[in-house]
Amino acid sequence: MIYEIRTYGDPCLIDLNQLVVDVDDETKKLLDDMLETMYDTSGVGLAAPQIGVNKQLFVIDIGNGPRKVINPEIIEMSDDCNESDEGCLSVPGIYKKVKRANRIKVRYLNENKEIVEEEMEGFLAKAFQHENDHLNGVLFIERISPISRRMISKKLQLMKKARVKNSTKK
Ligand SMILES: [Zn+2]
Repeated sequence: MIYEIRTYGDPCLIDLNQLVVDVDDETKKLLDDMLETMYDTSGVGLAAPQIGVNKQLFVIDIGNGPRKVINPEIIEMSDDCNESDEGCLSVPGIYKKVKRANRIKVRYLNENKEIVEEEMEGFLAKAFQHENDHLNGVLFIERISPISRRMISKKLQLMKKARVKNSTKK
């Protein structure tokens, strides 16, 4: 099932996300649907709040196979950072530079209830940090420079207005 992606201004994106207590069939179905939705929109990552589900879940696929991530934690972060363009399905049409740690060590539960510990770097590390931010209610536009933020403020306002219009139509 393909979900509708919630966009900037939607309260789901900043709400608290609950820990997943059991990886049951419902959770597995949700993760599959999230992957389907992500592939449908050609994204490389999608977090549950982006489809209106406030749970600690995200999916990621940077082209080397899907990862289903439950209750993630970033347990180590390198001091060396990399600044590169970032975008988000929930903030369509906006790409701005964001500084992220080059290497991270993470821990999460996979769909088989196994605890996974992984070290990742480069694009995967960046994508993981972006999705993990979603679970803390943080969008990448909160991590861009003040000048960039000012440059997109008008676009963001319009996005918010368009969202309200869309939701009253339904
Ligand atoms: Zn995003």
